[in-house]
Amino acid sequence: MAATRAPVGPITAASMKVAQIPKPGGEFQIVDREMPDPGPGHVRMKVQACGVCGSDALTKEGSWPGIQYPRVPGHEVVGVIDKLGAGVSNWKNGQRVGVGWHGGQDNTCPSSRRGDFRNCRNLKIPGISYDGGYQQYMVAPVEALVEVPESLTDAEAAPLLCAGITTYNALRHSGAMPGDVVAVLGIGGLGHLGIQFANKFGYKVVAIGRGSESAALTNPVEALQKLGGAQVILATAPSSKAMSDLFDGLGPNGKLMVIGVTFDPLEVNPVQLISGSRTIQGWAAGTPADSQDTLRFAELTGVRPMIETYPLEKAAEAYARMLSGKAEFRVVLTMWS
Ligand SMILES: [Zn+2]
Repeated sequence: MAATRAPVGPITAASMKVAQIPKPGGEFQIVDREMPDPGPGHVRMKVQACGVCGSDALTKEGSWPGIQYPRVPGHEVVGVIDKLGAGVSNWKNGQRVGVGWHGGQDNTCPSSRRGDFRNCRNLKIPGISYDGGYQQYMVAPVEALVEVPESLTDAEAAPLLCAGITTYNALRHSGAMPGDVVAVLGIGGLGHLGIQFANKFGYKVVAIGRGSESAALTNPVEALQKLGGAQVILATAPSSKAMSDLFDGLGPNGKLMVIGVTFDPLEVNPVQLISGSRTIQGWAAGTPADSQDTLRFAELTGVRPMIETYPLEKAAEAYARMLSGKAEFRVVLTMWS
């Protein structure tokens, strides 16, 4: 009974709901926590929506080193600033913002000193380095913030902050030119956005589902070679086997751009690389400025994620749906429904 436990200290802070992982490999728990306060250089966001990404498995299963538990996953976060920490002057209360995979850099490592924040040695990732977006309020450092354009809804903007930026940024740095053949391997959360961006970039786009019925009928390597070979294969499916099997669909100087996260080795032999001077490159998301570009480009061209929404309380169900590969196409949590 509240009356029998009169507080002796300050009045208890307001509470909020979070979906947390208690330990590596643990199940989601919906718990009440005290609302966090933003420290210097940080803001508190009232979270509206958070996308559910395959990389959330790194937190769920503990496969990223050094995660402290319990941990709240989520790095496709959209909300409204509701409290500013000390020293924050260029953001304001009520402003719509997002936070993606790039959750802050150290500004001191060799990459950061070169301005290559994307490759910061001590990159902070929401949901891994600190509590992410599967909660009603989240604290983030200002260098991680992205302004969200009015024309995008919260749930639409969220997946653009990881699935969107990763495909957009990988493609625009892939070297493919307008008119080039670009194959997108995997038609899921990343792939369905990659296909849209590739179309808007003016590529000749070939979408290749993994294990789909059509793939069984047509040999995708032959199909790509009939087109002269792909300049770029954007490999979004988290399957090293699917990537390896498709490699010979690349044309001369073609590039396998790897963004689907998996720990299995690729199987490509040196002759496959040498003939046609073909390359393999990995790509990780981008900076908040890159996210800003992604959102602006989406606003300009009408690229939008297709989403299925789940309330925060059903985080476990939403995560299972994402893992099933059957979602069409990105699962998004909403915090206040
Ligand atoms: Zn992600």
